Order: sequence, then C-alpha cells, then structure tokens
Amino acid sequence: MSKARPRAAPAHTDYVADEGLTFESEENLKVVTAFEGLNLKEPLLRGVYQFGFEKPSAIQQRAILPIVQGRDVIAQAQSGTGKTSMIAISLAQLLDPKLNEPQSLILSPTRELAAQTTKTIQAVAEFMKVRAHTCVGGTSLGKDMSLLEAGQHIVSGTPGRVFDMIKRRCLATRSIKTLVLDEADEMLNKGFKEQIYDVYRYLPPDTQVVLVSATLPGEVLEMTSKFMTDPLRVLVKRDELTLEGIKQFFVAVEKEEWKFDTLCDLYDTLTITQAVIFCNTKRKVDWLTEKMRQNNFTVSAMHGDMPQKERDAIMGEFRGGHSRVLISTDVWARGLDVQQVSLVINYDLPNNRELYIHRIGRSGRYGRKGVAINFVRSDDIRILRDIEQYYSTQIDEMPMNVADLI
Ligand code: ADP
Ligand code: MG
Repeated sequence: MSKARPRAAPAHTDYVADEGLTFESEENLKVVTAFEGLNLKEPLLRGVYQFGFEKPSAIQQRAILPIVQGRDVIAQAQSGTGKTSMIAISLAQLLDPKLNEPQSLILSPTRELAAQTTKTIQAVAEFMKVRAHTCVGGTSLGKDMSLLEAGQHIVSGTPGRVFDMIKRRCLATRSIKTLVLDEADEMLNKGFKEQIYDVYRYLPPDTQVVLVSATLPGEVLEMTSKFMTDPLRVLVKRDELTLEGIKQFFVAVEKEEWKFDTLCDLYDTLTITQAVIFCNTKRKVDWLTEKMRQNNFTVSAMHGDMPQKERDAIMGEFRGGHSRVLISTDVWARGLDVQQVSLVINYDLPNNRELYIHRIGRSGRYGRKGVAINFVRSDDIRILRDIEQYYSTQIDEMPMNVADLI
C-alpha cells in the first residue's frame, strides 16, 4: 500500500454553499446545474434523460466534473441523493468503448448493491456499447470467469470475488484507470480493509481513486492520504446528514418481549407502501420472521447466511412490490434503492452511529417522504439520545396518526 505518491495538501477553505453542502478544497468548486453542462457524450446524455433524470442532484452538480477530469475525489452526501448514480454516469463517460478490457472497478460492501450499480450503469449507458459486469461471491465461478474473459469495460463487485478473479488472471487490471469505493467508510473498515488493499496492489500505479459515502468518519478521511493524490473533497456536515424528508420516531417498548406486539400493531402501517425492518443478528431475523408468520402476517426475510439464489429471489420480489415487508440485517443497511420504501423500523437499535443514518436512508429516496421508527427498551434510551445529539436531530415519540405521515 506504500506507493510513492504526494500526500494530500491540507484543505484551507471551508465554506457552506447552498443545499447544505460543505466543500473543502483548495480550488473553486465548479457547480454544473444541468446535465448539458457536463459535456457528456451524446448517447450517455440521452440515456440519462431516458432513465428519468432531469437535472443533476447537488452532489452530481459538484463531483461528476472532477471525476471525469480524472481527479481523485471524496464525495459525501446524504442517502438517496444520487451518489451511486453519479458513479454510473461518470464511469460511463470515462469509458473507451473500443478498448475491450476493464477500465474501471467499483467495489461495494454487498452483492446486492454491486448488482444494483451494474444495473444503473447499464441503464444510463443504454445507448452506448458498454459492457458492465457484476463480479460477486455466491455465483458460479466458471460463469464469472467466462464473462470476464469475453471482455468487460466496467466491473462492479465485492472485494473477495474481485480479488479471486484478479489472482486467477481472469480480471485484467492493466487498463484500469479508476477505482471507486462505494460506501467507502464500510469498505475501509476492519472487515474489508485488507481485501481492498489486496485489490489495490494489483492496479496500475496512477489509478484514479474515488470514495463515496453518506458517512465518512474522521479516521477514514485520515487514512485516505495513503492511497489518494490531492483529493478533491465534497463533504456535508454531519448535522446535515439526517434527511429533512425522513421523520424519526421512537416507541418506548420498555422490555425486549414487548417489541413483538408493538410490531404486530404496526403491521397495517407497514404495508401502506413498503417497509424494511432491521434486526441486529441473522438469528433474530429468522426468529422474528417465523414468529410473524405464525401470527399470520406476510413477511419476507433476507440475510447473509441465505444461499445467493434465495437472496436474489427475495430482492426481486421486494423490488417488484410483490412483497411489502422485509425483515433484514445490516446487509440491507447500505446503498440499496427501492423507491417505494417509505418506512424503516429499527426493531433493534443499530450498533453504531453510521449504521443509523444508512438504515433510515433506505426510505425517503431522492427527496421522497420517509418515516423511521425506533423500538427502544429502557436500557436503549441512552443510545437513542446519543444518535440524536451526534446528528443534531430530533427523534420524537411516535404519534397515533403515524400512518398519515407515510
Ligand atoms: P445514493 O447513492 O446517494 O444513496 P442513488 O444514486 O442510489 O443515491 O439514488 C437514489 C435514487 O435517486 C435512485 O432511485 C436514483 O435513480 C434517483 N436519482 C439519482 N440521481 C437522480 C437525478 N439526478 N434525478 C432524479 N433522480 C435521481
Ligand atoms: Mg449509494
């Protein structure tokens, strides 16, 4: 990981611009308010419009240009404001379709997110000859190898399988120009960091690096100087992270045993559109799912111990709206975009502050309305107050008419 790269110079400007974004950069950040202003290739521009985007979001207005100009970029903005879509547009723009080798690599923490990103690339690049490939565990090795050998331009994957494909020489790295870490703080966390470094070592020395997340704690920003060159940082302040559109509530359940009845009472509210219920362990997801079904409630469930085929089927049903209530672990906390989700329940409070932001951000996508309800035992009140204080937000007791807010 020790490459001879200059360390990033310290930022010396720090100002708040419109829409609550804080920029720290030596340069003036250019804000491009229309897709036309981004100099996108004509078929890409057409694809972006056909996909339904009319104008770039705040983060897209500021970060697409430097990314396509080849700068290292750290981009932070609230959940659901178009960061992953920004990656898709930027990489499609950067691509040379005549070069039949991987030119950019996106690493994501879950297989579902990696696949979703591939889909977004394929959608915005519909009128371009772009080959984007999802490279994740739980799928056939042989198929992965042959698809990669057939020639791919953009690879979106999870670190384990991507590294495996690199080592087997099925994923050629010599033409890779851009590495993107989506959900970058999670990718640079203990669980993934070594794997990311393993992959990074195989990339050409001048590879552009782009980090994207809603949450980027200081310790992550500090380590970026090791593998980024003078990055442009587009950041939001943490007290602007909780989305205005998401109303946050708590229900004082006192004891663990009372959570279940509270959830049953809320079931009609859950099914108004779609809802995700978070538990902290896979066992708890299984237990709660079983118990809900015994009580004649229809629910789906997903966690990391399920076979990938089953995970894919459940994702398909939920995305299609055929199932409305999904019980899951934090495998569902980051990045996944189902626009109809308007309610998130923390059956268990999350284990850290970042997860809270990511979980509630599964609702209220791209400015839609969202509601988050936290089940709080007496001994959890401290944790809830900590979250409230850290993000300078307000979490009120759930009102009787909560259904009207969804
Ligand atoms: P993030 O990665 O910041 O959570 P996503 O890129 O997943 O956000 O986008 C969230 C939702 O907003 C998606 O449904 C996406 O299609 C939509 N979206 C993204 N950018 C735009 C845009 N410029 N105009 C309209 N919708 C957009
Ligand atoms: Mg995202």
